[in-house]
Amino acid sequence: MRRVSVLGATGSIGQNTLDLIRRAPDDYKVVALTGGRNIAQLAADAREFGAQVAVTAYEDALPDLRAALDGRGVEAAAGARALIEAASRPADWTMSAIVGHAGLAPGMAALREGATLALANKESLVTAGPLLLATAQARGARILPVDSEHSAVFQALVGEDISEAERVIITASGGAFRDWPLEDLPGATVSQASSHPNWDMGQRITIDSASMFNKALELIETKEFFGFTPKQIEVLIHPQSLVHALVGFRDGALMAHIGPPDMRHAIGYALHWPERRDLPVERLDLAATGSLEFRAPDLRRYPALALAQEVMQAGGHAGAVFNAAKERALDHFIAGRTGFTDMTDHVAEAMQVMAPHAEGLGDITLETVAEVDHLTRKQMDAQIRTRA
Ligand code: NAD
Ligand code: MG
Repeated sequence: MRRVSVLGATGSIGQNTLDLIRRAPDDYKVVALTGGRNIAQLAADAREFGAQVAVTAYEDALPDLRAALDGRGVEAAAGARALIEAASRPADWTMSAIVGHAGLAPGMAALREGATLALANKESLVTAGPLLLATAQARGARILPVDSEHSAVFQALVGEDISEAERVIITASGGAFRDWPLEDLPGATVSQASSHPNWDMGQRITIDSASMFNKALELIETKEFFGFTPKQIEVLIHPQSLVHALVGFRDGALMAHIGPPDMRHAIGYALHWPERRDLPVERLDLAATGSLEFRAPDLRRYPALALAQEVMQAGGHAGAVFNAAKERALDHFIAGRTGFTDMTDHVAEAMQVMAPHAEGLGDITLETVAEVDHLTRKQMDAQIRTRA
């Protein structure tokens, strides 16, 4: 029996993770499940899996959680500290699928205890990559990537010497505005940006696909996790979203990972690693697909990709600045306070303004990352107010 915890259990990744665990209940002992405001889901899952503890991020939701658990022997807890405490409980495998900056500290807590961390939370590597890797190394813990592109790179590298890889290509669907005339982009609405051609995901990550802020995060993650240099990391638009990434080797070979657009593949790979097990995902019929297309991204359409290169070159706290700026710009876009294409302009400006402050904060620690996050959000709010 493997002891598993799922941080962010009520979200899209969390629910897909539980779907896989549910298929082999005798193989797992669920330790901690965490969630946010969806107390009914959290409590139902905690009861179904006989979790040791269920934690909501929100302290005011604790009475509801207690009531929903209904004295079934599951401990209830709430708040940021309780999340860290639950993530620190001994587990063999922990899924890090809390969204945003809030996912960093609980994931770090699991690594400190030496658990294998299946990492879906993008912000952890983007804002604190060196800290995460150093902690894993010091504690003998392992990080397994769950984002589909990084799982693809990881799989393409099995049995290979990474020093013989000369480049890595991350693919992108191109998002909702892939084929729009460029001049229409400034007028794009929230609802237009919220539809994705291939993946069924939450609204924020879907808009981030249209702007390619999501891809920008993934490029930074690729640098941080695998240690590729910014020049070695490329992006290709691939409308079918079936090839998730390719690794190019010194002899010219390209190893591509092809799989269905279903996160249960990447989650399942991380769950069963280093073995492969049956997974309930679609088997691709490439003859029916017919063709796989690739094209270079146009940086005028996707200026976030150029910003990602800047972040990778700068290193240090640039990732935390970029992440906070793009999250806050997205809040303002969704609230109707700024336009779609204005988001990247605002992020570029915040990066310029914040660079000297962020440098001055010194090494990457949980505290300095939190500070950068806080200051950058304030900076973004000030920018939006000035332009309004
Ligand atoms: P989601 O919004 O569906 O779920 C997020 C989870 O985090 C929920 O359980 C929610 O309750 C919890 N949560 C939200 N705010 C919190 C807070 N302040 N403190 C503690 N918990 C909080 O998100 P998701 O789509 O499952 O994505 C999770 C992470 O995985 C994100 O970082 C995302 O970028 C990444 N990711 C998602 C996908 C995907 O296909 N959905 C793919 C790759 C990577
Ligand atoms: Mg991805």
